[in-house]
Formats: sequence, C-alpha cells, structure tokens
Amino acid sequence: MEVLNGKGVCDGIAIGRISFLKQHHAVVQRTRVEDPAAEQARFEQARDKAAQELSQLYRKALREVGETNAGIFDIHRMMLEDEDYNESVENLIHTQRVNAEYAVAVTSDNFADMFSSMDSEYMRARAQDVRDVSNRLIRLLSGSAGNGVPEAAAEAESEGRILCADDLTPSETVQLDKTHVLAFVTRHGSANSHTAILARTMGIPAVVGVKDLTDAWDGQMAAVDGSQGIVYMEPDRETTTALLVRQEEAEKYRARLRALKGKENRTRDGRTVQLYANIGAPEDIGAALFNDAGGIGLFRSEFLYLRSDDYPSELTQYAAYRKILESMAGKKVIIRTLDIGADKQIGYFGLGKEENPALGYRAIRICLTRPDIFKTQLRALYRASVCGNLAIMFPMITSLKEVLQIREIIAQVKAELTAEGFRYADHVEIGIMIETPAAALISDRLAPEVDFFSVGTNDLIQYTLACDRQNPLLEPFCDTHHEAILRLIGMATEAAHRHGKWIGICGELGSDTSLTEQWLRMGIDELSVSPSQILRVREKIRSITVE
Ligand code: PEP
Ligand code: MG
Repeated sequence: MEVLNGKGVCDGIAIGRISFLKQHHAVVQRTRVEDPAAEQARFEQARDKAAQELSQLYRKALREVGETNAGIFDIHRMMLEDEDYNESVENLIHTQRVNAEYAVAVTSDNFADMFSSMDSEYMRARAQDVRDVSNRLIRLLSGSAGNGVPEAAAEAESEGRILCADDLTPSETVQLDKTHVLAFVTRHGSANSHTAILARTMGIPAVVGVKDLTDAWDGQMAAVDGSQGIVYMEPDRETTTALLVRQEEAEKYRARLRALKGKENRTRDGRTVQLYANIGAPEDIGAALFNDAGGIGLFRSEFLYLRSDDYPSELTQYAAYRKILESMAGKKVIIRTLDIGADKQIGYFGLGKEENPALGYRAIRICLTRPDIFKTQLRALYRASVCGNLAIMFPMITSLKEVLQIREIIAQVKAELTAEGFRYADHVEIGIMIETPAAALISDRLAPEVDFFSVGTNDLIQYTLACDRQNPLLEPFCDTHHEAILRLIGMATEAAHRHGKWIGICGELGSDTSLTEQWLRMGIDELSVSPSQILRVREKIRSITVE
C-alpha cells in the first residue's frame, strides 16, 4: 500500500479502480499560411462552433449543477468574444502569417501568464479558464474527433471509477457522467478552482494537489479519503475495512441530511429562521450552496488581507466581493469589514507588539484610525453592491460613537463614488456585530442606528468570561452556556426587535444544536454556521416545538 497526500476539497470516501484521464492537449505546430484572410475565416468558424458547444454545456450544467455553477460556461463564451483576445489571434495570423491553431496557442499562453501573475487568487484561477477555452478552439481548428470529453470518461461510464488526471478543466468536469465517477484526484489544482467548486457542488469526494500521482496507477485499486486529503494506492485489507465502515456510517448520516435540502428551516409549530453560511473565501461559496445555505451570514473579509503580501487593492477586493455576490444570485451576502489584530496578525500592517492583544488595537479600531484602509474596503464593497444583495457588517463595536463615525465615513465614500461616476445599490443593509459585553448592554441605543445585529459568540464569550479564546488552559473555566452570555444575547434580541430590527448569531454557538431551541424561544431570526453544519442545524430546527 502506498499513501499519497493532497488537499481534500470534498468530503467522502470512495474505493475503486483508477482511470487516468488521457487528455488531448495536442502539440500545436507552427505553419506558414499563404492566405491570412482565409485563415482568419477558419478561426471565426471555429469560434462560432465553440460558442455553440458552450451554450450546450451551459444547458447541461444548468440541469446538473444549477445556474450559479453553470455560469462558468457563460464566462467562457464571453472570453471567446473578448476583443483583446481576438485581436491578438488575428494580429498573429496577419502579421506573422501563421496558422490559426498556433495563433490561438500563443495568445492562450500570453493571457494565461498574465492572469497567473495577478494579485488576486480569483484572477489567477482564470488562467485555467483561458486555457480551457483555447484548447476547445484548437481542437475544433485541428478537426479532432469528439466533443472534448477525455478518453477515460467513456470507460468510467460503464463502471464506477476513481478519475485521476494531471488537472481537470471545468468543461471536462461537467461533461463527465458523474453517476459513474466515484472520486476525483488530480496532481494539480487548487481549492479555488472551479473544478473543486463543482466537485463540492456535486458532492463527489475529491483530492487535489497529489504531487506523486502518475498515470502508472491506471487500472489499480485505490481508496480516496476526501475529508483527510489522502489517497491509498492498493490499500491493504485493514485500511479498506476501516474505510468501508466509515463510509457506511457517513453515508447513512449524509443521506438523512441530504433529504433536508430544499426543505424549510421551520419548527414543528411553524416558526421559521434563516440559515446562512459563514465563509472565509470566495471559493467557499460552492460548499455553502451545496449545503443549501439561504445566504452568506458572515464573510470574514480579513482572509483577503491575510492571503496577500500587501494591502489588497480596491480592484482585487471588488473582484472577490463581486464573485461572492454573483455566485449567491440575489441571496443575502453579509460581508464583515476587516477584523485583524489579536490572533489575526498581518506583517504589512506594522502593528506593534501589545501586552493584551485581544483587548488591543484590532478590527474597527484599526479601521477608524486608518481611514485610508477602511475607505478602500468600503469603496470596493459599495462598487460591488450592484452585483447582488449586499449587507455590510462591522466587528468589535463597543460604542454609539463608533457607529456614528462609521456612518459618516460611509456617507463620504458614497459621495466620492457618485462624483467619480460609480454606481452602487440604493439600499445596502448596515449591521454590527454584538461581540463585546458593552455592545450588548447598550444594544437599545445601537439598534436605531443600524439595520441588524449579528452576535459573535466567540468573542462575546471571551470578553464576558475574561477567558482568552486562544488559551486551552482556560477551557474548564469557559462555560459557553454561561447564564451571563445567554442574558446578554437575550438583551440584544429584545432591543433589536423593539426597534424593528433583525438579529442573528454568527459565532460558533449558532451551530451548537443543544442551544437551538433556546435561540428560537429567544426570537433569534438568523443563524449563520459553517457550510457543513447547515443541514445538521436544519435537522434540529425541524425537530423543535417552540411554544
Ligand atoms: C465571533 O467572534 O463570534 C465571530 C464570529 O468573529 P470571529 O470568530 O471572526 O472573531
Ligand atoms: Mg469576533
């Protein structure tokens, strides 16, 4: 048995034979053409045919993985219409008198390199899309047979197989007959790739970045553990038995939860509550949608900053926010502004060492004293607001003064954007986190100034019980169900409702199902939990009678 490690991007266990995809990435020859105009006509024909294929793929994906994920094929179709891309191909054909295949291959490399060198992870992932579209054009130009589905897919259709490949493009992933694919394993690929998102959406166990994967394993038995990111080649009997037991148990539980997709978050006596997802990156959207999230209740935007070597630009942030809003297609997306400091340190912010970092210079305190950083983020957020249903939330609030200051800065940002000709949504809900005892205690004063509250129980517990959330020694003293916590949340709920505002919980207590009944009795309107917890919490809600 050989054990290969990678990155698990979709949970689940699969055991079966490997089919290693033989991908046709034809070697493109450069040839001289006598008639560039005829060559250009050949390119245009291939482009029309590619657009037709992509429309078909869009319709297939729409049926199988829903509108949001099918959108990638619309993006590919738009890439075919991209002026810069087409100009580059046509210039090469005319100025260098080269064949269209070669002109497309060169353009593809140039554009993919350009995307790969960009700051934003999202834009870097687009390099693969350019290659995908260009390979389709090259296949059509060179008259290769087939519709671009790699060879092993056909084999996989007759028998369940673990599909292995160097990498999988979104088109390849969607064109495969998933009913016979047990798992995906790729040598390359990131959690941010559309393929990983599609795998999650389809619920097929997947491991990417398995460096030691080779086509020599074709036809061999393997076991894939998508939750641990491990592939066992030729697994021994003991490993297989252990995995089979886990697979059976997990499958039973998942099937029970899967049956809850599309069902309401409604108690036995008819009380409904919103169930949203907490995410840390645009690529987590796949998991949120796969688990039937009603919206995004917390996007921890600081992860954009933590991944970067320098302050992410307005454009980088705009692209990330836009992607989330568009992917959620009109469902509510609550983006929390930068919350760094304490346990989340970033070198380029130049934050000095502090005696008590959790009680220190963090979150909104940094934003209000460094308005350049804050305004860049707010500009990106408001510019993206036209792309979906955005709400903005502010962390670590302790006073009314902070909220009023935030509102003033928002007004300035909006005025600047208007003067520069940028559009933004007419109404963007503004909310604050209730994660300090101070905020809960003055929630009746804060409520009139905002549209909603969201309780950050992780910090509310740390500050109320004076227990550093990073210190495992304090666990015995940190009673997460402490009456003081429940009273503070009850107080904020009462204040919110008195002023006609809604209140949610986005800290980890939101998915503590031993408290779900209590939250419902209290009148909590929304629970935002990690994607994998959504259906578990829904199951609980549906078992409760509130009155
Ligand atoms: C919280 O404090 O509960 C919360 C949701 O924010 P974070 O965990 O990011 O501090
Ligand atoms: Mg917090």
